[in-house]
Amino acid sequence: MDQCVFCDIVAGKIPATILYQDDRAIAFKDIHPQAPTHALVIPREHVPSVAELRGKHQYLAAHLIFVAHEVAKREGLAAVEKGYRVVINYGREGGQEVPHVHLHVMGGRPLNGIMG
Ligand code: AMP
Ligand code: ZN
Repeated sequence: MDQCVFCDIVAGKIPATILYQDDRAIAFKDIHPQAPTHALVIPREHVPSVAELRGKHQYLAAHLIFVAHEVAKREGLAAVEKGYRVVINYGREGGQEVPHVHLHVMGGRPLNGIMG
């Protein structure tokens, strides 16, 4: 995939603070954090959006959620009295800006309202 910033992070072409990685996914710190912990979980493979998490990619959706909780554990957010939020943006009105599917994992402060 040409000109995909998240593919470039997967390839190590641009720097990121990696929080987790395995054979299918990586997680790294969002460059513009909206909370004390703000990580992005992405598949290594270029899958454009949640709309393509089907067919051969269907089970990737479950793995990305698993990774989100692993990241939350590592960030000390996995206890119920702490907690975190997972957000997937899609489409223009949903606010997806990077066309490589990603889960936002946010926490470390109380998150109130729809998006906190
Ligand atoms: P979205 O609006 O859901 O597409 O979110 C894209 C997210 O990617 C935003 O929160 C950006 O701050 C974040 N982002 C964009 N470029 C980078 C980068 N090079 N490293 C880390 N996070 C990034
Ligand atoms: Zn990509």
